[in-house]
Parts: sequence; C-alpha cells; structure tokens
Amino acid sequence: MVVNRVLAASAVLTIGALAALPVGAAPLQRNLDVYRVSPVVENGKVQALTVEVRLRADADGETRMQLPAEWGGGERLWRFLKDPVVTGGQLSQPDEKTWAITSKPRAALTLRYRVVSAYDGPPPPDSPNFGQPIIGPEGFYVIGHTIFATPEGRDLDLARFEWNPAGASLRLATDLTPLQKSPASISQLGPSVLMAYPDTVEARRDVGGAPLTVAVRGTFSFNAEALADMTARSIGAARAFWGDDRTPFLITLAGQPGPQGWTSYRGTGLDDAFAVISTQNTKLEDYRLFLTHEYLHSWIAERLGGAIDGPDEPAGYWFSEGFTDYYARRLALRAGLVDLETFAAAWNEALDAYATSPAIGANNAQIVAGFWSDRAVQKLPYQRGAQLAVLLENRLKTKGGLDRVMLALRDQAAQRRGASPRTPAAQAFAAVARSMTGVDLAPEIDRYVSRGERILLPADAFGGCLTVETLTRPAYWLGLDLAETGKTRALAGVDPTGPAYAAGLREGMKYLGRQGGKPGDSTVEIGLAVEENGKPRVIRFLPKGPGEVTVQRLKVPTALTPDTRAACVKAVAG
Ligand SMILES: [Zn+2]
Repeated sequence: MVVNRVLAASAVLTIGALAALPVGAAPLQRNLDVYRVSPVVENGKVQALTVEVRLRADADGETRMQLPAEWGGGERLWRFLKDPVVTGGQLSQPDEKTWAITSKPRAALTLRYRVVSAYDGPPPPDSPNFGQPIIGPEGFYVIGHTIFATPEGRDLDLARFEWNPAGASLRLATDLTPLQKSPASISQLGPSVLMAYPDTVEARRDVGGAPLTVAVRGTFSFNAEALADMTARSIGAARAFWGDDRTPFLITLAGQPGPQGWTSYRGTGLDDAFAVISTQNTKLEDYRLFLTHEYLHSWIAERLGGAIDGPDEPAGYWFSEGFTDYYARRLALRAGLVDLETFAAAWNEALDAYATSPAIGANNAQIVAGFWSDRAVQKLPYQRGAQLAVLLENRLKTKGGLDRVMLALRDQAAQRRGASPRTPAAQAFAAVARSMTGVDLAPEIDRYVSRGERILLPADAFGGCLTVETLTRPAYWLGLDLAETGKTRALAGVDPTGPAYAAGLREGMKYLGRQGGKPGDSTVEIGLAVEENGKPRVIRFLPKGPGEVTVQRLKVPTALTPDTRAACVKAVAG
C-alpha cells in the first residue's frame, strides 16, 4: 500500500503503542471504523449494495458523515447513497452531502445505507466517465470514492474492510483486501476498486518480490493469464526505472459490450491498483502503453509531491498526464515491451491529434475550465506535456537528462513526506530541475503550458535513428455535421460549398453508416453509406477543407539491421 500523507504524519504510532500511552499523554486517539459491504440480491439479480459502518461517535456527540460528492468527472455522487439508518443515535441531513448523527459522546454507532447504480442497465460505451457506481444485474464495479461515507474531520481514523457476499456467488477483486486483515488509514478507502461478478477470473504473478493480481471480468480475445504476463513486464519496466517499489498491486479489467467498430478503454489509477473498463474487442497489445501509463501514476504525481488539490487539479496535468505518456512510451521501448515502430505509431497518433485539435491553442487556465466538459481540451495536456518532456529532455541532455530530475523529485518528495502542505509535483518540478542541473526550465513551461503556444519539435528531437518530419496538408473538413447525422440517421448540416456536397451527398439523405476515414486527417478517404432511390450506395471523398494544418510525424528508417535497431532503441529510450 502506498503510504499516504495522513498516515505518514503519524507513522510512529501503532495501535498497540497507542494503548500503551500513559494517561496524560497527548490524546491522539485513532478510532477504528469498520466498513462492511454486501450485495443486495433479489431474484438472483444484484439490485444495490449495502454499506454498514460501525464507528464511535465524536466526543461532542455530533458525528458528521461526509457523502461522496465529485470524483473522476462524476458529480453529485451523494444521489446514489440511499435510505440511511442509524442505531445508537439520531440521524438528520443538514445538507445533501452530509448525514449528521446526534448521540451520546463516543457512543457505538452503526450506520447502514444502500448504494444504487448510476446507470439504468450497463453504462453506454461512450459515457464521458465511469466515476459513478455500476451495479447489477450480475455484479458490480465501483470506486471507493463513490460509495463510502466517511466521518468528517477524522482523517486519522483507521478503517477495517469487511466483505459479506450475502449468499451470492460473487468473486470480489479489491485492493481493500489488506484492510480485511489489518486496519489501515481511512484515507485508503477512497482510492480503491471493488469489482465483483460470478465469472471474475484472477491470475497472480510475482514482480520483483511483490505480488501482482490481475482480475478480469468479461469475454476478451485473451485470458487473465496472458494479461498478467504482459502486465508483469509493464510493471517491471516502471520499477526498473524508479527502483523503489515492492508493494502489492491489483489490476481489474471489466469488459463491456461495444458497438461494431467501437473500441474504448479507460483506466483509473488508485495508488495500489488500477481499474480498467473496456470494450471486449480491445486487443491485448492495445493495453501495453496504456497499462504502463497507469502504473506510472503510482509515482507521477503521487510520489513526486502529488497532484494540485481542488478544482485547479487539471493545471498540473501537463506534468502528471503528459510526462506519464512520455515515460510510458520511453520505458516500454526500453524494456522491449514495444518496438520502435509501435513507439513511433503511438507518438504519431498523439502528434496528429495535437496538430488537428480544435483546442490546440488553449492556455492552461482554459484547460482547467474546460477539462471535464470538452474532449479536445481534455486530451491537450497529455499531448502537450509529452512533447514538452521531449523538449526538456533535450535541454537537459548534457546534465543527466530528465530522468535525473524525475528521480530527484521523487527523493525530495520522500524526504518531505508528512510535511504539510506538500508542493505538488507539477509546481516543484522546475525548482528541482534548476537545483539539480542549473538549467532554468520555467521559460519553456510558461511558454508552452501557461500560454499554450504551439509546440514544434526539432527534426532530431528523439535522437538515434528517428527523425521528426514536419508536413502541411489541407485542413480536415467534411462539410456536414457527422454527429447530428449519426444521431438522426439522415444527412445533416450539408454545406453546399463543402466536399461532401461536391461528392453528391445531400441534406436529408437516409444515412446508413460510415466506412474508413480518419478524424482530423484530410488525406484519408472517407465513405458515407446512404440510401438513394431505395438502394444503398457508398459515396467516398477526401475531407479537404480550406486552409492548411502543420503536422509532425516520427519516422523510423525502413532498413535497420538488428545492431542498428538496438543502438537506436538505446539512443531513444536510454
Ligand atoms: Zn493518466
């Protein structure tokens, strides 16, 4: 388990030591709160969860339970917590996110409530987030942040976790398992995943002396064993870089059906776990960089100083997401998890998406404002931050490179653990770089992050055998509203001056579907199937609009001998 801030501040205290404290010593009382989760099963279907909390009341006789509010893009999460019942005290609800319990001081309380699903049936694959409880009918998939009510002002409490399957044949995978054996900081309840289905399959590996558990639910083209093998390599690559992790780790993969041609996977880093929800057509190799990225979040930013607290959190995503993408690709290449071509393909996808992003010029304040509501804005700190890391690596090359600064940032954060307040990693980065290398990176960060200036990488930015090519091509424009067309199944927003119209497409034609095309790329032909005179017809065209975009691409030489390939990997990945 990752040692968290609160626990670290009082790391010398153990429960045993507390009991032995002499009367009159500082009254540092660590309450033990017990959280028991069970499914509500009716007619063989999981309808809800029951959470039972057993705890001591506050010394003043008023215990305020904080309900989940916002997390991971999910809002007003208290809506999914229902029917609270208290024994040992009187319950009232002063506001929608608080349950107040009045009782005798230090009374033994039991709070019981239900958690219901945020979705009517399975969540849609294009849901903007899965930061909300997914419950029923076969099982459930929830993040701790979204289901646990916790006592206000009692960050030092310890929590024990209990699982009661209530007779259901559910196999629970959770990173709260250690809290079943021995209580730990209550702050560990939030960043946790609980996935329970009858057909959950687990596989285990030992990665450098630490257990890795992989839990898969659903029907994929690979099994849990294959995922465990791949993940062990990915985790091994990250641990080899940082050289400091021996903690148990859990990966949950929840499959969901996806419409034809639609692939999606999303992950949530949870300190000692990551939770993935994915369409079942996703291939095992698609997860390589993604899982490496997620695992790197154990350090970036948590062990490097943490994220920026509060609503400004996305202001640090150029670092915590962008640098994580940079390192996921670099370390996966270093470990042989991906080859040069896959490395370049991943970069090219990101460079292309960046070049054609409608949000490309957004400054960091605009990223904070639009992160959760605008998909282009949401992707920008990843794209921008990874490229900034390339630029900074080049600036620091003769001084030990970016790697040295990242490791120093980790060491500094470890030394200051427990000090409050922490300096978030994104804000500590430039000062650590300056003290380690004498190089001032603040002007670059100001230019590309704060002001959002477009990044163009130099041709030799990656070194080795790779070159960055800069091309211009016509801007991408369909000349119709594809989103509205998809919704209404009839061509909508057809512009008489646009390429769709010129190819013969007309407003109102019955729309049957799309073939080919690549969003943002005007050089890839797109085909739209329509019904004409009662017959299906595919009309193809190049989605070229007025104006040009400048796009960068990473080029791998075609003829590489095994030796020149190995030398190139070494030069690029370190
Ligand atoms: Zn991430």
